[in-house]
Amino acid sequence: MSKIKSIVAREIKDSRGNPTIEVELETDKGIFVDSVPSGASTGVNEAAVVEVQQAIKNVNEIIAPKLKGQDVLNQKAIDNLLIELDGTENKSKLGANAILAVSLAVCRAGAASKKIPLYQHISELAVGRRTSHRLPMAMFNILNGGAHVRRTPSDSRGVDKLAIQEFMVIPDKNSFAESLISCNKIFNNLKENIEKNFGKENLDLGDEGGFAPPISNIEQALYLLKNAVDGETDVKFALDCAASEFYKDGKYKIDGRELARTELLEFYEDLVKRFDIISIEDPFSQEDWQGFESIVRQLGEKITIVGDDLTTTNIKRIKEAHNKLACNGVILKLNQIGTVSETIEACNLAKSYGWKTIVSHRSGETMDNFIADLAVGLGADFLKAGSPAKEERMVKYQRLLEIEKELK
Ligand code: PEP
Ligand code: MG
Repeated sequence: MSKIKSIVAREIKDSRGNPTIEVELETDKGIFVDSVPSGASTGVNEAAVVEVQQAIKNVNEIIAPKLKGQDVLNQKAIDNLLIELDGTENKSKLGANAILAVSLAVCRAGAASKKIPLYQHISELAVGRRTSHRLPMAMFNILNGGAHVRRTPSDSRGVDKLAIQEFMVIPDKNSFAESLISCNKIFNNLKENIEKNFGKENLDLGDEGGFAPPISNIEQALYLLKNAVDGETDVKFALDCAASEFYKDGKYKIDGRELARTELLEFYEDLVKRFDIISIEDPFSQEDWQGFESIVRQLGEKITIVGDDLTTTNIKRIKEAHNKLACNGVILKLNQIGTVSETIEACNLAKSYGWKTIVSHRSGETMDNFIADLAVGLGADFLKAGSPAKEERMVKYQRLLEIEKELK
């Protein structure tokens, strides 16, 4: 048992330079610090974020006095108390950012109280016991488009950015360490190719550390990726389309065209035939259930159709998606729902459906590495944390390397 002595919130900057909240929680075992990321392509059903100064005030003046003296081992009870204190459906009173920062620090302190690694504590919270701790495979996002690239057509040779937000590589190796080496080779090949084709001035990176060359054609992007893989074996591709961002008035604006739902489905079917794509996230807009249902019918046997904006780590949305057969995989983002316990619940539910589970970072990240332990503790199939070219992404991969060594 470890009682909370104090909780103090403060402002830090995230990887986009935007303010976010960090919490310092003290118990007899030490001081535990966690912070909260933010999205750019956020789903409309995500838990609400309050302005950072207000969130800090909410932690320091409302949450901290209530939690003082509580045992950090009671994660579920503390998370329930936070939910109760907030009292709204979407955490709009205290803010999911305020609530999550505390929930994360409580969890980290809980592991220290038991003197076990964080991933082990999470697996005990999730399934009531230690597990074999299978490491997730990494989805490395190395080519960026959509809301993660802030280029306009007038910036660069009149070329618009890619409609699809994330082009990811998944090296299937014997260890995470080998996958990371493989990703680095592919990343460097990609850099060379882009430099050769588009010049040094076009090597800028998107928010998650993937390249953002002046191309807008999806097929061209996949060929760039394919060429970069050059010689590396057992590398698969995954896409996060974040299609809500290119959906307007019933049409999907992609590759300079405006596609109806059925045309977009055909577009994806063709890509899956021609490239080694094993997973497509948010292929349709977040309220386009019919789009999701149709792609699961057509491609669900062959690849994973992943809900992110569709499901928002929310068990109500995940149940709905299951009832409608709208996906067979799910993104888990702590700040979409706001507590560790609800994220665990979402993961357990998705697993009970036999879905693939993917723990994910956000496009605006901090140096917090919690999600690496979360992915291992939950036994998630994948961890999606961007490219290894950005420090705030790399800290997550560093932590996975550490865990892998520990488990050997
Ligand atoms: C995503 O859409 O999966 C993602 C990580 O982006 P964001 O954080 O901007 O929602
Ligand atoms: Mg997504």
